[in-house]
Amino acid sequence: MNIAVLGAQWGDEGKGKVVDLLTPQFAVVARYQGGHNAGHTVFVDRTKIILRLLPSGILHSHVSCAIGNGVVIDPQALFTEIDELGRFGYDVSNRLLISERAHIILPYHRELDLLSEARRGERKIGTTSRGIGPAYEDKIGRRGIRVCDLFDRAGLEQEIRENVQARNRLIKESTLDWRPLFDQMLAYGERMKPWVTDISVFLAKTSAAGRPILFEGAQGTLLDIDHGTYPFVTSSNSTIGGVCTGLGVSPKMINGVLGVVKAYATRVGEGPMPTELLGASGDRLRDSGKEFGSVTGRPRRCGWYDVVVARYAARINGLDSVALTKLDVLDGLDEVKVCTGYRFGSDVISEWPADLNVLAKCEPVYETLPGWSRPSSGVTRYEDLPREAQQYVAFLESVTAVPVSIVSTGSGRNDTIIREKSAASEWFGVGTM
Ligand code: GDP
Repeated sequence: MNIAVLGAQWGDEGKGKVVDLLTPQFAVVARYQGGHNAGHTVFVDRTKIILRLLPSGILHSHVSCAIGNGVVIDPQALFTEIDELGRFGYDVSNRLLISERAHIILPYHRELDLLSEARRGERKIGTTSRGIGPAYEDKIGRRGIRVCDLFDRAGLEQEIRENVQARNRLIKESTLDWRPLFDQMLAYGERMKPWVTDISVFLAKTSAAGRPILFEGAQGTLLDIDHGTYPFVTSSNSTIGGVCTGLGVSPKMINGVLGVVKAYATRVGEGPMPTELLGASGDRLRDSGKEFGSVTGRPRRCGWYDVVVARYAARINGLDSVALTKLDVLDGLDEVKVCTGYRFGSDVISEWPADLNVLAKCEPVYETLPGWSRPSSGVTRYEDLPREAQQYVAFLESVTAVPVSIVSTGSGRNDTIIREKSAASEWFGVGTM
């Protein structure tokens, strides 16, 4: 079985933990979009490891990890991450594969990112300023530099020269020299070379040999460039379509889709978030959930679970099943709320609107459920969850119309419930994890 695991909200849903947990069931974990702005936090034996560019499966020594053509790669960030993992005792050198078609982030993309945010002033996107957006712009503008270009000396020289000249014209008073950049890229290419391959061919062969693949999404559905809260989005397709375009695999190779959904909602950066809680309630979720960006440290905006968002994600991605994370963060609340629709004027909207002006005027309609005082934290069997927590999960299943097959009750690998007779137990078998 090849399964896609992707975020169903605004990212930071806990995909890293879920992918890390499921990885022993797979031969390959393949990332299909984004760059080193993604931050997956994984705890192994209480050691905190943050993965940015490398697929989360990299922490399992039997698994190969593929970085697809849909990913943009900052080679220096890649090497730093590989070296960091080396210091933790993880040798990735024989298990990493990089698409020859992936695009490269160059140092000037970072500067362009900062410049573009500064130009937007108050309307800034809230990007991580790592050059990811500008690298995707160059890709779509057909002037990007791909991994395979690093091995074509003459072509690379021309591309870098022209790109640097164009950039110098764009940034007033800039006199960037293309030569050191060219040398740097050649050196990067040399180090990357052993890992570079045709990922589409590799994955097709892997699948044909009956070796299962996990397709790993970064960010979340509402940050998708097409389906998210544009323009407050990331620059790639984090939704299911990105698997096909970002790895060169056919839709028929995706046998199941698991959406990772937090038991409440968070988002970083700017843009509308209808269920955002300002004040003490938001602070409570932020503090209990340690909702601070794993890459940037930025405080995340927090709010109640939003069914409009979840149903939208279910439809766009064809979710078969949900991994519900961070249920334990709601422990101890007197009551929990769930947004089941938006009041807009005299109407109640149940479909996610495209127009941000409409979204900004939407008032959440809440259903209030009882909270639970006995902790769910660390619980590993569904029947051991507090009764009200079970009611909460059942309510989310009924209103979202997707079954919850995995419940995460803490950040550790063991703080997990795999439900019996669920998609997850069918895909992976209960008791094998
Ligand atoms: P990702 O980008 O979707 O992988 O999410 P992040 O790694 O940015 O954020 C998830 C954070 O929540 C990480 O620090 C995880 O260790 C943590 N986490 C994941 N699942 C749970 C859970 O069920 N409970 C708690 N308390 N923390 C969790």
